[in-house]
Amino acid sequence: MAQPIAEFEYDGIRILGYSQAGEETYFALPELNIGFDFGRAPRELLAVDHIFLSHGHMDHAAGMAYYFSQRMFIDNAPGTLYLPAGLEDPFRRLLGLWGEIDGNLPHANIVVAEPGRDIALRRDLTIRPFAVRHPFRKRDGGVIGALGYAAIETRQKLIDEYHGLPGPDLVKLKKAGTAITRPVEIPLVAYTGDTAPGEWQELDYVRKARVLLLECTFLDEDHIDRARAGYHLHIKDLRRIVPKLENERILLTHISRRTLMSEIRAILARELGEEYSSGRVSAFMDHRPKRRRRAPAQSDAREG
Ligand SMILES: [Zn+2]
Ligand SMILES: [Zn+2]
Repeated sequence: MAQPIAEFEYDGIRILGYSQAGEETYFALPELNIGFDFGRAPRELLAVDHIFLSHGHMDHAAGMAYYFSQRMFIDNAPGTLYLPAGLEDPFRRLLGLWGEIDGNLPHANIVVAEPGRDIALRRDLTIRPFAVRHPFRKRDGGVIGALGYAAIETRQKLIDEYHGLPGPDLVKLKKAGTAITRPVEIPLVAYTGDTAPGEWQELDYVRKARVLLLECTFLDEDHIDRARAGYHLHIKDLRRIVPKLENERILLTHISRRTLMSEIRAILARELGEEYSSGRVSAFMDHRPKRRRRAPAQSDAREG
């Protein structure tokens, strides 16, 4: 049976998904109609129209062809993939090969995303790609830079000088063509993909996103070299980074699959203290529905 997925909800922001390093990572945000990475393209992801791919590693990208093929069965709308520059061509070739094998070439919208160049999905929702530090090398030697993404809501806010004016006066001003509101950006969710520490930490729309999906692959003291070599974050990095972040909730993703959830909790409590015990920081995969326990005596032993 498939592993249960995690389901996180905070103040109307709902994130379904699964994330373990080297195995599978994807997130579906049904209310925003977006997904981050494909994983193996499970059902939750097939329902969203826009997928934002962080990079080409298999644990994030494997489900690409399956996503587009299933989308055609579901409602005949192909869906759109946004990806880092340099990946468009190999992904199109991969789809073409699947077309040869399967007999049907799935329709696919594929758009190259550039750091800092906004993608408007709705009048009130923009996706802003940003550069992260997880360079990955193709076999031909080319290096492709990975991307993170922030989902930003735009709200219209009354301009200060019109505060306190009676409603009818505001209507009159508006009818006369006066701009009485200005757009205000509210970063809802930011996703770092895989990354080492880098300049992305300084971006306001990442630091202040209401919810941050933050990679933290390595928790083991001895694995700092492995984190550096693979351009990943280590829990020791988070001790420095997290206090500077203003996110209301921080969900740690991509944690090594070798660590049991009970160990993860103990390490996060030890390394992050109040940040963890207050609930601001948690492991994304700890938001899975709790297993039914067979005997109360065993309850705390193994929940991984
Ligand atoms: Zn990965
Ligand atoms: Zn990776």
